[in-house]
Amino acid sequence: MTRSDVRQLIVILGDQLDHGSAVFDGFDPRQDLIWMAEVTDESARLQVTLPRITIFLAAMRHFRDELLALGHPLEYVELTEDYATLSQALKAAVVRHRPQRVVVVEPGEWHIKQALRAAVAECAVDYDEREDRHFLCSHAEFARHCAGRKQLRMEYFYREMRRRYRILLDENAQPEGGDWNYDSDNRKTFGKAGPAGLLSRPIASFEPDRLTLEVIALVRKRFASHAGQLDAFDWPVTRADARLALQDFIDHRLAAFGDYQDAMWTHEPWLFHSRISAALNLKLLNPREVITAVEQAFRAGRVPLASAEGFIRQILGWREYVRGIYWRLMPGYLHQNALGAAEPLPDFFWTGRTDLHCLHQAIDQTLKLGYAHHIQRLMVTGLFCLLLGVEPQAVHRWYLAVYVDAVEWVELPNTLGMSQYADGGVLASKPYVASGKYLARMSNYCVSCRYDPAESVGPKACPFTTLYWDFLLRHETKLAGNSRMALQLRNLGKLTATQRERIVQQAEAFRASLRPGGRSNLSS
Ligand code: FAD
Ligand code: SF4
Repeated sequence: MTRSDVRQLIVILGDQLDHGSAVFDGFDPRQDLIWMAEVTDESARLQVTLPRITIFLAAMRHFRDELLALGHPLEYVELTEDYATLSQALKAAVVRHRPQRVVVVEPGEWHIKQALRAAVAECAVDYDEREDRHFLCSHAEFARHCAGRKQLRMEYFYREMRRRYRILLDENAQPEGGDWNYDSDNRKTFGKAGPAGLLSRPIASFEPDRLTLEVIALVRKRFASHAGQLDAFDWPVTRADARLALQDFIDHRLAAFGDYQDAMWTHEPWLFHSRISAALNLKLLNPREVITAVEQAFRAGRVPLASAEGFIRQILGWREYVRGIYWRLMPGYLHQNALGAAEPLPDFFWTGRTDLHCLHQAIDQTLKLGYAHHIQRLMVTGLFCLLLGVEPQAVHRWYLAVYVDAVEWVELPNTLGMSQYADGGVLASKPYVASGKYLARMSNYCVSCRYDPAESVGPKACPFTTLYWDFLLRHETKLAGNSRMALQLRNLGKLTATQRERIVQQAEAFRASLRPGGRSNLSS
């Protein structure tokens, strides 16, 4: 194909690795050219950790090789100093190939969407941006769901989606088992014995192949100053492996997923979680096939209803819902800070070196694996930032940098909305706040910690507990009108003036110790 023969430049972004993507509709290998590019700007700007950079590059290069094996015409731009941004690389490609049209599926990040549109407009060629049919709810459908509602809540959206796709319904189109939601059954802890007896089988591992090893070597060299480790990298980076990961979860962990989805345990990063978020977000897996496989496992009597329902709610409910919120509220959403939080992110978030044992566990495994499960993100790292009063945008940048599944459309609403309450209650009906006692109940972290979760002041006081009361004191007026906070505020009302004063002093001293130049409490 000569330069001017290219009819369509088919652009595939790093999180769009789907052979069934809408970008291929009408694709003609005799006239069209597929184009992919690796760029460094986001990785450098956010100090993205090594596991997240690696999973994206490894998955992209495997996808590239699959396209080449199919004989498709493809230009693949490897990491280069020439272009820092995707827009720069794309503009150069348009100049090189002079296509009649650039075709892309809607990017998963608002700023990238704007940047690509602007880049193509500058080149004065046609731009065909297609809806991402990976998702089960389009923007127009989400807008219809929101129309006329004063308040948005995931639960009502989820019920609509269950009805619409006929998922877990009985023959009368009613929810299987009589209830829409079995969340109250899904909060078990492991007790003193821990999960050892339950975890009977090792989790399927995906040892890096030659191509992934090449990427690992490249990333180590190119991003040497970035945090994170690659020794234990074993994420699926192809569709075939992603399918194996899904099957492994259904066969061995789904049955207990419901019971233990909120529980945590020292040195047990995976427990009964699926580990498929990155494969889903890279589009190696389709949510429909995941939901179908889980429903089939329930119908075949292999897993309890509460587990199947609890898992399907995450994919059909939360995942689609947060995406709807993101596109509805961007770009303003990114800047929200309803609680006026302004503290810097403590340095130990990049090292894991802290003597708060729960934080050490969650951050250490995050840097090693690029993974922490939902409750670790929400109720350990997220809770700590919320209670400390860290600026939500700094929290957002960290979450976007450290997890292998991090893509802005899903990360931002979870961080800013669900975890930091920075949207003032759009996503969550109340701030997810708790003291160290919650962590003591849901994990064994406190057993090996130098702090005591029951103490709020004094040398052994658990910082979560001190900061919990301090949070309620700081935001008492703002939260007073929220009926879901009534019990917590009633308990706050029982504190004496002296107790309140001591809590505020201890919280402020702790906060000061974490600021740059403060006596940070590093150790373990
Ligand atoms: P499982 O626990 O096995 O859950 C199954 C699947 O459900 C996940 O793979 C995921 O696709 C979906 N899911 C579960 N919870 C959510 C949720 N709240 N929102 C959207 N999808 C959900 N998830 C991401 O995919 N990318 C992110 O960048 C991300 N950032 C987060 C940041 C914070 C502060 C919080 C609290 C949560 C975040 N989540 C994010 C949601 C959730 O924590 C992860 O999807 C989950 O931990 C991934 O692990 P898993 O695949 O083992 O999930
Ligand atoms: Fe975390 Fe407090 Fe428990 Fe220590 S005592 S592990 S800081 S909750």
